[in-house]
Amino acid sequence: MKKLTVVGMGPGEYESMTLRAVKALNTCDVIVGYTVYVDLAKPYFPDKEFLTTPMKREIERCEMAFAEAEKGRSVVMICSGDAGIYGMAGPILELAEKYPDVELGEKHPEVEIEVIPGITAALSGGAVLGAPLMHDFAVISLSDLLTPWETIENRLDAAAKTDFSICLYNPSSRKRADYLKRACEIFLRYKSSDTVCGIVKNIGRDGETKKVMTLAELKDYEADMFTTVFVGNSRTEKSVLGGQNWMVTPRGYRV
Ligand code: SAH
Repeated sequence: MKKLTVVGMGPGEYESMTLRAVKALNTCDVIVGYTVYVDLAKPYFPDKEFLTTPMKREIERCEMAFAEAEKGRSVVMICSGDAGIYGMAGPILELAEKYPDVELGEKHPEVEIEVIPGITAALSGGAVLGAPLMHDFAVISLSDLLTPWETIENRLDAAAKTDFSICLYNPSSRKRADYLKRACEIFLRYKSSDTVCGIVKNIGRDGETKKVMTLAELKDYEADMFTTVFVGNSRTEKSVLGGQNWMVTPRGYRV
């Protein structure tokens, strides 16, 4: 059977994968992915064949996955978190129809495609901090590799202006050291410098760390690419429970 399943494997730990994801990984013939995710998955599925491409070789990775499926193998393309959020579900589906077949309008008409959702970093990191995204929230990536920075700035401005809680992905990379600072400067146009914020690093992986801080402190925080950032709305509070700091956005009920 020619099958390509795009699997979101959650933040990294086995326990945070869905049963559907585990079943797909257990029953496939080959697992394709970015080196970092393959290294996370390998210990749990040691008997599988793994194929990798480095970062920024996403299209190559998709072509590789289709090529394997066309051989009649059952292929899983793994992504961290959810495959539909800054993941590979989009590119796979876009590539599947790139060179329209006259009758079916697909490039790989015989490859059956399935997308299995996973726990995205906003949710796994949100749980580590408590309940930062309890009310309306926006998710924005600070990566300008595929999105013009001006578009990102407009979205940051709009989300801050309307008092969303905001979750930031890709807060930094070597080339973009000051992007989080620039984002915080935009937030400070509308949000108080005391706004409760938090970061979670290496969610579900070795070295998981969380920190609750103010927006003023976040502006000078040096995030890395394995960090997810949470910016509260005007009602978000910090609470201290069991010796830990938590970030809680009210649900809106009166108590
Ligand atoms: N598809 C992924 C997101 C990929 S974009 C998902 O749904 O989670 C990559 C960004 O996601 C990182 O820069 C970071 O901001 C966030 N991220 C993904 N996994 C993470 C983890 N285990 N710990 C902290 N942040 C993570």
